[in-house]
Amino acid sequence: MAVKTCGSIARMSSDHHHHHHHHDSGSHDEPRLCDTELRVRALESLLVEKGLVDPAALDAIIENYETRVGPRNGARVVAKAWTDPQYRQRLLEDATSAIAELGFQGRQGEHTQVVVNDERVHNLVVCTLCSCYPWPTLGLPPTWYKSAPYRARAVSDPRGVLKEFGLRIPDEVEIRVWDSTAEMRYLVLPRRPAGTEDLDEEALAALVTRDAMIGVGIVESPNPPEAARRGQGDGR
Ligand code: FE
Repeated sequence: MAVKTCGSIARMSSDHHHHHHHHDSGSHDEPRLCDTELRVRALESLLVEKGLVDPAALDAIIENYETRVGPRNGARVVAKAWTDPQYRQRLLEDATSAIAELGFQGRQGEHTQVVVNDERVHNLVVCTLCSCYPWPTLGLPPTWYKSAPYRARAVSDPRGVLKEFGLRIPDEVEIRVWDSTAEMRYLVLPRRPAGTEDLDEEALAALVTRDAMIGVGIVESPNPPEAARRGQGDGR
């Protein structure tokens, strides 16, 4: 069944594609529901009402896709980019194709761009108007990603937002905020942490978190030295 994505719906009524940021409160406080979301909500209500599904079980499934199943794909992309310079090059030139090489493709990932964290730049991904997100690599967006405060403040106060995630980015590091659209989704390539020189791709992938690939986290060293650990935030 052909359905419009939520991003397309939002774009019809505003200039989403040109990355205008709407800070006027009120009109954009709730993400717009697209056809699919409305249908899913209607179906969920019916199924729960008829006692066919337990809402708690549904929540558990969603949580699993948000935090585990989905982001494992992105983690494999990141780990491969860390260990294979040619793959990294392909990923930066055409992320959609490089990600498809690993078998991850499909809806909400047709045009993906990878943005690279390094010692000078930290990247942060948001969708200011709704909830555009790279589904093939990260799965379902977490609730906070769709929330009005995150969508507004990621742009107006990115350092403040990162602090709330327990992440302090040094002042000399530039923070770049990427506003996702229906046409372009972003995936952050986090920095490879120190002390991981001996790890293989699989072990590296296990370190990569969803939050690091959105840019609200970093990938932590597996065994941080005591001094480094003391200097870090609460590691949310
Ligand atoms: Fe969106």
